[in-house]
Amino acid sequence: MTEVLSPVTEEVVASVPAASMEETDAAIARAHEAFPAWKAMSPGDRGRLLRRFASIVDDHIEELARLEVRNSGHTIGNARWEAGNVRDVLAYYSAAPERLLGHQIPVPGGMNVTFHEPLGVVGVIVPWNFPMPIAGWGFAPALAAGNTVVLKPAEVTPLTAMRLAELALAAGIPEGVFTVLPGKGSVVGERFVTHPLVRKVCFTGSTEVGKRIMAGCADQVKRLTLELGGKSANIVFADADLEKAAAAAPSAAFDNAGQDCCARSRILVQRPVFDRFLELLETSVTAFRCTDPADSDAEMGPLISAAQRESVASYVDGADVAFRGSAPSGKGFWFPPTVLLAHDENDRHWREEIFGPVVSVLPFDDEAAAVELANDTEYGLSGSIWTSDLGRAIRVSRGVETGNLSVNSNSSVRYWTPFGGVKQSGLGRELGPDAVAAFTEVKNIFFSSE
Ligand code: NAD
Repeated sequence: MTEVLSPVTEEVVASVPAASMEETDAAIARAHEAFPAWKAMSPGDRGRLLRRFASIVDDHIEELARLEVRNSGHTIGNARWEAGNVRDVLAYYSAAPERLLGHQIPVPGGMNVTFHEPLGVVGVIVPWNFPMPIAGWGFAPALAAGNTVVLKPAEVTPLTAMRLAELALAAGIPEGVFTVLPGKGSVVGERFVTHPLVRKVCFTGSTEVGKRIMAGCADQVKRLTLELGGKSANIVFADADLEKAAAAAPSAAFDNAGQDCCARSRILVQRPVFDRFLELLETSVTAFRCTDPADSDAEMGPLISAAQRESVASYVDGADVAFRGSAPSGKGFWFPPTVLLAHDENDRHWREEIFGPVVSVLPFDDEAAAVELANDTEYGLSGSIWTSDLGRAIRVSRGVETGNLSVNSNSSVRYWTPFGGVKQSGLGRELGPDAVAAFTEVKNIFFSSE
């Protein structure tokens, strides 16, 4: 059994079984047995079941959100958005089965016809920072394409995924089609990689574990999607609306206590406005509300664990702290929003993913320097550009090596648009119209007319 703690009270909120290797094999076998009927189901019926699943999730938004607040310490506002995101992703992909079209290609002596065929059993591995949305981004398109899914939540945040599996059954999704299997990465997760009946692994988590999974999948040439770490740049040019950029910067770095792969954790500010921007940033950081996440106006809760707090603190110890916001003291894994001055691009806090409410700031001189600094990282997941010059926005956004970028905004994710990283931030794309095809193989059949 795994004891699940509340990051707010540090008390045990649930004890959850941890699946053994044998139980993992059994779950994969059940998913494999369920596959032929799920694949053969008419697209309309499969879509209808996914819509019913979305509708039942909609009926349970508040329950799921409160469960996430208790398990993960997410603010209630964020947790409601996260549960709503699962509903929306299910509803969006419920329309996909009928739209998985192939091509008919005239060729000499006949014609070719292509089919998108589901892969079989898909293993989805989810991290602890966004337990609900990241689960949905994997299982919803995989199920829509006709695959069956076994999903492993993170050890510390299994509760909402387990509840989603119950809701799927209540919606009429057949037994074995969608299984949630809590357990260790080294047992359940690794078994997804080695088990020959798991045809694709859909992994979200750290770059370090992602590399191990990629190496493991090579053995069977197993299909793989990787959504990994980030160290995204928030680039503020002197011609930007500085008030707007500074007001938006704290949530871009500290939302979910900074435990966000898209966190804009490096702020690059053009030198002439550096001091002015820092003044504005101090005002918005000190106003950022880090408090009991169940409060409706909370903007940030605690970190997930004592270990995470220790890791985050190790980046701040000895660094040049510009200013900090406030956080509760006493019980709970609290850490205040913190702004660090980077001295150059070699500072450890500037280079490494901290995964906590810490943001580093560095000045730059011109467009070319901004792009060079932004790209001087092994990561490339998201980022922002703040400028009033459209030409510059176009030039810089084309120059920054990243999967997702926003101009005069810090938003990253819209479920009907693609999401994913370049370089060591990942492989493949989730969400958007193409995600379903990524859970299929194209079969190409030639019909002879001779
Ligand atoms: P993690 O890599 O430690 O764990 C992620 C998942 O992998 C967990 O379920 C874990 O149990 C499992 N796992 C661990 N070892 C495994 C193994 N050997 N084989 C198979 N599975 C294994 O990551 P984390 O600490 O839970 O999450 C934080 C990381 O996730 C950060 O680096 C963050 O940037 C990244 N992340 C990326 C995205 C994205 O979309 N790019 C989204 C969220 C989080």
